[in-house]
Amino acid sequence: MPNPLYDTLFASGRDSDRPFLTDAGGAVLTYRDFHALAARQANVLIAEGLVAGDRLAVQVEKTPQALALYAACVMAGVVLLPLNTAYTLSELEYFITDSGARGVVCDPAMGPQLQALLGEGRVMLTLDANGAGSLSEKAAGHSSEIAVVDREESDLAALLYTSGTTGRSKGAMLSHSNLISNARALADLWRFNSNDVLLHALPIFHTHGLFVACNVTLVARSSMIFLPKFDLGAMLRLLPQASVLMGVPTFYTRLLGDRSFTRALVGHMRLFVSGSAPLLAETHIEFEERTGHRILERYGMTETNMSTSNPYDGERRAGTVGFPLPGVDLLITDPDTGAPLKQGETGMIEVRGPNVFQGYWGMPEKTRAELRENGFFITGDLGKIDDDGYVHIVGRAKDLIISGGLNIYPREIELLLDEQPGVLESAVVGVPHPDFGEAVLGFIVARGDARPDIAAISDVAASQLARFKQPRDLIILDQLPRNTMGKVQKAALRAAYKNRFV
Ligand code: ATP
Ligand code: MG
Repeated sequence: MPNPLYDTLFASGRDSDRPFLTDAGGAVLTYRDFHALAARQANVLIAEGLVAGDRLAVQVEKTPQALALYAACVMAGVVLLPLNTAYTLSELEYFITDSGARGVVCDPAMGPQLQALLGEGRVMLTLDANGAGSLSEKAAGHSSEIAVVDREESDLAALLYTSGTTGRSKGAMLSHSNLISNARALADLWRFNSNDVLLHALPIFHTHGLFVACNVTLVARSSMIFLPKFDLGAMLRLLPQASVLMGVPTFYTRLLGDRSFTRALVGHMRLFVSGSAPLLAETHIEFEERTGHRILERYGMTETNMSTSNPYDGERRAGTVGFPLPGVDLLITDPDTGAPLKQGETGMIEVRGPNVFQGYWGMPEKTRAELRENGFFITGDLGKIDDDGYVHIVGRAKDLIISGGLNIYPREIELLLDEQPGVLESAVVGVPHPDFGEAVLGFIVARGDARPDIAAISDVAASQLARFKQPRDLIILDQLPRNTMGKVQKAALRAAYKNRFV
């Protein structure tokens, strides 16, 4: 009986004594242990009345039990809906209502409030940061044998909500084949093998930590050191036991900020991957100078899984996200007309392939508007392809500034600001302006104790940028607002400074 994702990722683990997860203290869970844990949980879900296609909303801390719940959902044919642990009760209400979730697994502390919100007729289970709670209690009473529920390649495996960087989160419907094709493509491209040990410090409610990291590991039958979160001390202690690290850019800047992060510490490592937010070219270069390793940057999104990657063997080009993955087509089009642009021109990134999602849950019109009939998905990211075929992300279409009727790409200005003495990083947004519609506003974070010279930076901008692109104001911030995935929250900056010029 087929269940494609189970067959690809989990089935062979049933009889394998190879290590799968090691915790920070060194305790090992084998593939067999993990399969049994998930099977017991799947039997709980089935006993609670969840059937194939039901959505299970899950907001829990990162534990082996929480990861097993992903496998349990696959076994039971249930659609996993993982949620950011930072979401509040009222945010949870949106996700549960929007998805029509039949069941919820949450932290016991959230239980009573959530139960009141859910009312009768929905399944509610708990799981805490130690892996205890009603789910685990019930699982202990169930068999580790499981009659895996039949599914087809086009059936949904997960409903993954986007990060909400540009607006309200949308539920991306991901099928078994979406996840399988991407896991295989990445494991192959990044040369994952059964000897690899991935140091896993990403959250598992997001595509990066859940699907990229875990699915690639499962496909390759390799193992992970599974940390509840990024902790600099634990990272430095455990890197010597790992061969691969997957991180968001802030992982790399934080590692570089510690002097005990040295070439000797990571000399044995095979691969460092970065994604979810742009990695500054400068970080890429500094990392190579310090360690001798070139970080491999890739690009993806909740809706598409991963779409591009720098090469494993060829040049990993700083400031780019590499080439489309095998089987993925990538186009740069005119954002207004949809017509393909010439190589080198900046426009909308569109992506087609087995990785591209099935549409937005409950949003048929938005799906029709963004997922073309010919299969191309309009990503909302702007980019270009250079002469050698490397894809560059220029920013998001929603962050494009239109001043006096002219288009301004914030990244062009950010790159200039980042180069100035005393500047660690920057963000540029458009805010309302009475004459121009929008005006350019720049934010700068100082490097260390340096005091960036705003007047001097404005002079450089004036000499190098056309008048309409020059920031009307430069503001020094202690840090840029970021979410847990290291994404700069430009909408928050726009909102906070919307009255600057009006
Ligand atoms: P929402 O769609 O709700 O506004 P979001 O787009 O931030 O939120 P995700 O799906 O988590 O939600 O993030 C995908 C986005 O992350 C991409 O569209 C892109 O803008 C950005 N991204 C991912 N990897 C990279 C990268 N290597 N370089 C630059 N940007 C990246
Ligand atoms: Mg998005």
